[in-house]
Amino acid sequence: MISPIIDTNTIERLRSLINKAQHIAITCHKSPDGDALGSSLALCHVLRRLGKDADVVTPDMAPKSLEFIPGVRDIVVFTKHELRARHVLNQAQLIFCLDYNALQRIDRLGEIIEPLKTPRVLIDHHLNPEDIFNLSISFPDASSTCELVFRVFMQMGLLRFMDRQAASCLYVGLMTDTGGFAYSCDNSEFYEILASIMKRRIDRISLYNLAMNTFSADSLRLQGYAINEKMTLYPQQGAALIVLDKQELERFNYCRGDTETLVNKPLAIPEVYWSVFMREDADRIKISCRSQGDFSVSKICSDYFNGGGHENAAGGEFYGSLDDAVALFHRVLNELFPNTLDQNEQQNQPQ
Ligand code: 5GP
Ligand code: MN
Repeated sequence: MISPIIDTNTIERLRSLINKAQHIAITCHKSPDGDALGSSLALCHVLRRLGKDADVVTPDMAPKSLEFIPGVRDIVVFTKHELRARHVLNQAQLIFCLDYNALQRIDRLGEIIEPLKTPRVLIDHHLNPEDIFNLSISFPDASSTCELVFRVFMQMGLLRFMDRQAASCLYVGLMTDTGGFAYSCDNSEFYEILASIMKRRIDRISLYNLAMNTFSADSLRLQGYAINEKMTLYPQQGAALIVLDKQELERFNYCRGDTETLVNKPLAIPEVYWSVFMREDADRIKISCRSQGDFSVSKICSDYFNGGGHENAAGGEFYGSLDDAVALFHRVLNELFPNTLDQNEQQNQPQ
């Protein structure tokens, strides 16, 4: 049985907020991933089936690699349709905040939402949500926001509106946020949720191939290059670091999403239990971290890299040069593992 983990009072308040609103906006974090897009689009779809004027508004574009998620082309993207995004948010009578825990995570949408009196409903699984929501459905132990959206549907009696399209959206988030059902899915209820989604006759194999195993030739070559020539191992600290600068990204015609799963790759090495990837973007260095077991990369990202996330998957940003970002990483190693850095054989030579 799938237990009703969201308390009844919260569900009833949510029901009343939805009943009172005709125009509903759904927002998710910048650089949206499979969970952010899947949860937002599934919720939007079900709300539309309830007769609501619902729209998904994102701070920036979905990566090309996720354009297969049903409904992506319908999204109001702030960087592309600023006026329309402002209009949708300003006229909304209810705003959902999905898969993020702080307004800073939605870039300039945050400035629009902050002064509005419109009720905000959080549905999220990140640690330490800000205290800025009228209703908060926050479960850091949940596999994904898609799991929580499913639970909201279930507890509100809306599962009959979850058709194949909404179920496909949720499946994408359940799959991508668990690394293809590899982590954060130890709870048996997770599989009961999957079973309910499977009953909607989703095309599981094609969704798997599109979400988990589709890369452009450039992206695959970039990943091969990064692993062969740009991966540094720190065996004493169980760490790996991959750094890609602007020129390298340009050489491989980098598009958003091309390095999405690269940070996971070094974790295949038994000695590596945490992995860091630094990418030089136009205005900042983007940091991604992954770990295995009880080594928290969320704390590292919040302490050193202006970020946060989950215990085993977190990210942040660094303003400065790539060299300075790497120097900061070495400082982190020194602080977490005092007096061990010089014992490393350091750089593994590319083959
Ligand atoms: P990714 O490495 O895939 O960008 O992000 C992994 C996890 O860390 C995601 O759950 C994401 O929400 C979180 N995360 C990524 N970048 C940031 C950031 O700049 N700030 C915060 N607070 N969380 C981030
Ligand atoms: Mn998520």
